[in-house]
Amino acid sequence: MTLFAVEDLTCRHGLLTAVQGLSITLNRGEVLCIIGANGAGKTTFMRALAGVHRNTDGRILLDGTDITGLHAFERTRRGIAMSPEGRRLFYDLSVRENLLIASENARPGPWDLPRVLDTFPQLRPIIDLAAGNLSGGQRQAVAIGRALLSNPDVLLLDEVSLGLSPAAVEGVYHSLAALKAEGDIAMIVVEQDLNRALDFADTILCMAEGRTELQGAPDAFSRAQITDAYFGIH
Ligand code: ATP
Repeated sequence: MTLFAVEDLTCRHGLLTAVQGLSITLNRGEVLCIIGANGAGKTTFMRALAGVHRNTDGRILLDGTDITGLHAFERTRRGIAMSPEGRRLFYDLSVRENLLIASENARPGPWDLPRVLDTFPQLRPIIDLAAGNLSGGQRQAVAIGRALLSNPDVLLLDEVSLGLSPAAVEGVYHSLAALKAEGDIAMIVVEQDLNRALDFADTILCMAEGRTELQGAPDAFSRAQITDAYFGIH
């Protein structure tokens, strides 16, 4: 059975329709990368999947169960976790404390602090530093580690490489590639870097003005088709 399915999802901010009729399916170990220009609706879509944005029509199914009506914390318990845009860490707390907060509401599963540190070894030397003192790449690693500690089946990663140095992006994607190779978790990744998205994704979804412009395996499209879709050129 499909692990995660979204059917005809529409999301509104008041009178504005930010996402219109998006559908996706995803299985364990698969990666969907969402690309699209600023304002295309990517963050709204991710927040709707996490249950943070609630003004939606359509259906969200996890393991065949309709979870559309569930609040964010209930979805986390069912196995959906998000690393949000801007990371949203507690900057006065240490890395360890930021990570362990996630364990409080976690469903049972294989992730614990040692496993997060194996996946993101760059966090080991800074585990007792305040999160406010970290670099962008380190913050991103903490945010993803925190999401993993809730033992997700579906991991939502918004703006993975935004604001990170090339070396930091490399480090984060090295860890994400290892996660993907394990094959247990499905990932939905919003990625500004087109090359990175094409490289990492099993499926890409290009959004423009809230709609699907293009959706499928990266090698099913020419570079020109993808860039035209990115800029909403028909
Ligand atoms: P970015 O890359 O700039 O984050 P995005 O693709 O993630 O863009 P969204 O942030 O989802 O796009 O925004 C989609 C549309 O919804 C935009 O027109 C934006 O102005 C609008 N929007 C986003 N958040 C709100 C909000 N809280 N209230 C009203 N309108 C909003």
